[in-house]
Amino acid sequence: MGATTQDLSHEPLAGRPCLVCAAPVRLRVAAWTAQCPSCGTWRSDLEPEIESASLHRAIDTGARSEGLRELRERNNRRILDEIAALQPLEGKRLIDVGSAHGWFLEAAATRGLDAAGIEPEDAIAEHARAAGHRVRSGYFPAVLEPGEQADVITFNDVLEHIPDVDETLRACAQTLRPGGVLSINIPSATGLGYRVATLLGRLGVKGPYERFWQYGLPSPHAHYFTPEALATLVRRHGLILRRTVPLSSVQRRGLWARLHTIERPSVRSVIAFVGLWVAAPILDRPANSDIVLVLAQRAAEEPSRGV
Ligand SMILES: [Zn+2]
Repeated sequence: MGATTQDLSHEPLAGRPCLVCAAPVRLRVAAWTAQCPSCGTWRSDLEPEIESASLHRAIDTGARSEGLRELRERNNRRILDEIAALQPLEGKRLIDVGSAHGWFLEAAATRGLDAAGIEPEDAIAEHARAAGHRVRSGYFPAVLEPGEQADVITFNDVLEHIPDVDETLRACAQTLRPGGVLSINIPSATGLGYRVATLLGRLGVKGPYERFWQYGLPSPHAHYFTPEALATLVRRHGLILRRTVPLSSVQRRGLWARLHTIERPSVRSVIAFVGLWVAAPILDRPANSDIVLVLAQRAAEEPSRGV
């Protein structure tokens, strides 16, 4: 039958092994998302389109900057404080994967880090280089020099877009120096916003759920992990889990611009704005946060191995 030919080119999502615990996942909420019944990890089969993403993100740079910058800057300071609690920052080499416009690189440099970025979208990478940041175009770990190492590797709103998370984390463990820190800032499957969107999606109101997954956008999400599942993943690669910290995901200031990064004001967007404005203080409580920061560290080398 015709369906058989199609199945050969595109493996069905239902029944694929969970990336964290290998249990077969089950379709949930939409035909393009599934959840692991055992550990709660979510995955999608949405495909990124990097080239159009480039165009899209270049166009929306202004609105995105205005709506998100303050929230990002606050979170960036927090992330650097958390990393500094694990190892001194001064003079240490940092790689920011998916460095976008270079905001995190800028924050890292002010703390004395020797910070470099990797960014797959060439137009964005060029924009960051023009602003004075050291950014390589391409993908992690493919663009690393042979034997290249780092003291800190960061993923800010990036890991959820990468289909093969396991391979990425393996490369992190190999690239980090002994005592090096891996910092992952990522949307959480346990966040209140995500849970409400899931509930609404099951009731037939798909808009918020699609927005959470960035469905129909050039750079959709491939995963939603619980903090526990992420901890399991980093431990699998020999890293030591240090901290799991809720980060701020919603604030009233800049919300209008943030909601209209990709769409013009409409009845729908005004309803979303009012709803989020009212709910912002509740969504922003640490227990409800939709963004989590996971910090892991490579074990320090034993002194006897030092020569
Ligand atoms: Zn699982």
